[in-house]
Amino acid sequence: MSQLTRVVLTLAVLSCAWLPVAGAQHSGEVNIYSYRQPFLVEPLFEAFTRDTGIKVNVVFAREGLVERLAQEGRNSPADLLLTTDIGVLLDAVKAGLAAPVGTPKLEAAVPAQYRDPEGLWYGLTVRARIIVTAKDRVTPGAITRYEDLASPELKGRICTRSGKHLYNVALIGSMIAHHGEAEAEQWLRGVKANLAQRPQGNDRAQVKAITEGVCDVAIINSYYMGAMLADPEQRAWAESVNIVFPNQDDRGTHVNISGVLLTQNPPNHDNAVRLLEFLTDDQAQEIYAESNNEYPVKPGVKASALLSSWGDFEADELPLAKIAELRGDAIRMVDRVGYDE
Ligand code: FE
Repeated sequence: MSQLTRVVLTLAVLSCAWLPVAGAQHSGEVNIYSYRQPFLVEPLFEAFTRDTGIKVNVVFAREGLVERLAQEGRNSPADLLLTTDIGVLLDAVKAGLAAPVGTPKLEAAVPAQYRDPEGLWYGLTVRARIIVTAKDRVTPGAITRYEDLASPELKGRICTRSGKHLYNVALIGSMIAHHGEAEAEQWLRGVKANLAQRPQGNDRAQVKAITEGVCDVAIINSYYMGAMLADPEQRAWAESVNIVFPNQDDRGTHVNISGVLLTQNPPNHDNAVRLLEFLTDDQAQEIYAESNNEYPVKPGVKASALLSSWGDFEADELPLAKIAELRGDAIRMVDRVGYDE
């Protein structure tokens, strides 16, 4: 084989290696990297395939998907990244891993505070960071605001997970956004002074601690109430507490999202956009939100019967992008006040 032939053959092989990626545009597939568990999203993807004939391939993982996207760069087979929490979406955006979408249908479906102004990420469902209180030890109405958690009357009565967990980092970020750094820090010192024990465990563990009498008040994500009620071993925990949607008389309850972004160089761009739009259709919104006990992001789509039974609430309209910007400040504040010590 001549040198030239070898070069030509090598080039041919190389270009073939690229073909499946370039050709996938019309292959009737879409590829997803998902931090969300299979049972939450598979029913939706099956419905999408039934509707459109487009096959959905999913890589599920608990961690490492943003890093994987970064490593694969422009050659990644992934079209969409599906995740929870604004922080994860913003990490991917900052690393240059997202491409703007911005179709009129998506912008109509997703309220402005739950999407990127440039269309780089979209919220799909909403979760509220609620306060739960011991039914037998806290009078309903005694605690109505996040600010109340710093009240000296609650000394030794609050349980939370680590201040550095992304759920609490986002909540602290919202306090900084609304009150400024100094006042937010004073608040966090007050909450720290009221803790019954060193921050530990996950959100559900805080509710268990209330059931066991360790504390009377906790901060958790709303969907865990639904998850505990559905679990025979945890049902009693959920039933031992009342739900408080904080700050209903002022700015509204702090919320976060589960969301999605289009990757920087999606091999199946059109199919991916079609799936994105499908996920904001009324019916998909209802199914997706109900399966994880979250709230639909789309206005007018009703929440599940269980969530409706907890009553309506007003969400804080502070843009999530603003909260995400304050993550670094929030984490430094957690360190300064020694919240986790
Ligand atoms: Fe969670």
